[in-house]
Order: sequence, then C-alpha cells, then structure tokens
Amino acid sequence: MTPKIERFLAERRADTPCLVVDLDVVAESYARVRETVPDAAVSYAVKANPAREVLELLIALGSGFDAASMFEIETCLSLGASPDRIIYGNTIKKQGDIEAAYARGIRLFAFDSEAELEKLAVAAPGAGVYCRILTSGDGADWPLSRKFGCELDMAANLMLRARDLGLDAVGISFHVGSQQTDAGQWDVAIGRVAEVFKTVAERGLNLRMINMGGGFPVRYRKDVPDLETVAQTIADAIKRHFGDETPELIIEPGRSITAEAGVIQTEVVLISSKDYANGIRWVYLDVGKFGGLAETMDEAIQYPIATPHDGKAEGPVAIAGPTCDGADILYEDAGYKLPLGLKVGDKVLLLKAGAYTTTYASVGFNGFPPLKAFYI
Ligand SMILES: *Cc1c(COP(=O)(O)O)cnc(C)c1O
Repeated sequence: MTPKIERFLAERRADTPCLVVDLDVVAESYARVRETVPDAAVSYAVKANPAREVLELLIALGSGFDAASMFEIETCLSLGASPDRIIYGNTIKKQGDIEAAYARGIRLFAFDSEAELEKLAVAAPGAGVYCRILTSGDGADWPLSRKFGCELDMAANLMLRARDLGLDAVGISFHVGSQQTDAGQWDVAIGRVAEVFKTVAERGLNLRMINMGGGFPVRYRKDVPDLETVAQTIADAIKRHFGDETPELIIEPGRSITAEAGVIQTEVVLISSKDYANGIRWVYLDVGKFGGLAETMDEAIQYPIATPHDGKAEGPVAIAGPTCDGADILYEDAGYKLPLGLKVGDKVLLLKAGAYTTTYASVGFNGFPPLKAFYI
C-alpha cells in the first residue's frame, strides 16, 4: 500500500467496502510498460478499470485503448481520446455497433470468424482488421480461450478473405490468457503468428501487425515472471521469427496497469467456526464475489490480505463474502492464514485490487450496493 492510500484511509474514514486507487501507481505502471516494451504501442484494455480518472490519466500519457463495446468507445472519446488510438478489440460485436464505431472514426477491428468478418465488410468498409488466433491458456490463472480465436489455417483463410472483401488486412492478434505466469507462452504464440504470416505471404498477402493482447502478470501471493523477462521473451521470439522485418507491435495490458494501484478496504462482519474439532475459522468480510471480487472464482486470483494484527500468530481460515449465496466464498482451499487476534469490526485490506473489481460488482444483489471507489 502506498503512503497516499494510507493517509486517505486514515483521514477519510470512508464506509467499507471501498476501493482506493493511487493514480501515481497507474502512471508508474504505464511508464514501466512503455520503457520495458519500447517497440510496442500500448492500448490499455479499458475493461480492467474504466474509471474516468484512470482513462483521463492514460490519455494524457499518450496511451491508446482497447475497447470492447460502444459504451467503452464513447467513454474514451468523450474524455478526449482520438478515434485513431482506439481499437474495437472484441471479436463479438453487433453489426449496429460496428456501424456506430465506424461512424465515430474507429478504424481497427478484431474478428475471429467468417460471420464477424462479413459484418465488418458491410459495416466498416475498408477498415483495418486483424484476426485473433487461439491460444491454449496454459499457464494463465485467468484463461480466456476457447471462447476467443480460431485455428491457424482458418485465420490465414480469413485474412485472405478480408482482403478480397476490400478490408485492410492488417495482422494477427492473440491473448495468452490473463495473469499469465509462464513467459514461454508469448514465445509459443508469436511462433504461431509467424506461421500465419508465412502462409498468407505465400498467397500474396503481406501482413504487418501483431497485437499481443494482455496477460502481463501481477505479483499477488505468488512470484511471477517480471515484465523484463516477458519483454525479453517477446523480443527474442520476434527476432527469431521475423528477423529484421519486425512487424508493428501492439500490446493491450489491463491488469498490469491498474491492479497494483488499488486497495480494497473491507470490514470483518463475522468470525465463526462450523464445529469444535478442526477449528478452521470462517471470516466473513463485507465484500465478496458479488461486490467486485468475481476473479476469486475457483480461487483464481488470490489477493494479498493485510490486517491490523499482521506479524502476530496466525491460523488457517476460510474467507467469504456477506451475501446469502453459497457461491459467495472467496477462499477455502488456497491456504490463507490470518492472525488469531482478528476481531469482528477490524478493517482488512485486499491489496493489488485495482483491476477487474469495480465493474465486476453486481448492481445490488441482496441489497449490497456496488463497490465504491476513490481515485486519488
Ligand atoms: C481482457 C483483455 C486484455 C487485457 O488483459 P490483461 O490480462 O488484463 O492484461 C487485452 N486484450 C483483450 C482483447 C482482452 O480481452
């Protein structure tokens, strides 16, 4: 936690649960990405945290944006982003939304199927398009595939078809899966992109861009490869597969830009035990799966937790949210331990919670309001 967040929490005494995001950390994370992956243009994945304050900051810093919907596109535009810095990166779009985006000046679109390509040809004539290929999702704590992407032979055929439909057949994209903990997965994916480039080149189409998506991991409870390691893996793979003919590169970090900037302050509502025997404490917080912590599904994303009693004796716990839904358990198997002195009413902090939280909160399940957020 940063001193700025600490001061804010001490002075403001806001009702819990609330997310507090230190915008300086967002700026630092963005600068670090620019520095470490200097050859790639950055399109921030808006869905990770679409707060006006975050987007305004990133616009001022020169970032581009990866948007998934007309709402995200309109938000970026209304805050001053220029349409040529916005990618419509969702492979699943209504034709009307493609038309609307095109009318607003968006000229780069993702697709991964023939049907989507047909829509683009009609609704965004002449626009730039890129095809997303499947990745395995291996190594990712929050995998995204099978839903997105297509096999390499299909991607090659579709890019040729894009050209024949009068679209600008720009390149290929992939996403190695969010919170990707194996740097080697970027190497695998770039190798697959190179195959598509080669196949279409043999048929007279030269592609010029690789969109490498996001996936850059954050250190939650476990060590992960650092950004330097991932960047070096990418640079080596590009060199090996493309030699001196480096394609234009785009990356779309989301999590790695905003996660570390945010802390959720929550309160202990109840501590109980289910039996006299094993003594596992159940700690119920006032935030849960429906209050913004959807990424605790299958205990995938494991936020580091800080309490006022850290450093004292600890014991194993299960941690759950406050709603009357049985799915609202955050961690039961992940091996969390919390201090034995933890009490009802204590304030507990979930660290590195600035990404994929606010917009994942339900509108009011069980009458609990969506997660409040402060950007400082
Ligand atoms: C979600 C998403 C991202 C961001 O991924 P992170 O793992 O948060 O960096 C980037 N690109 C696309 C297309 C996405 O759907």
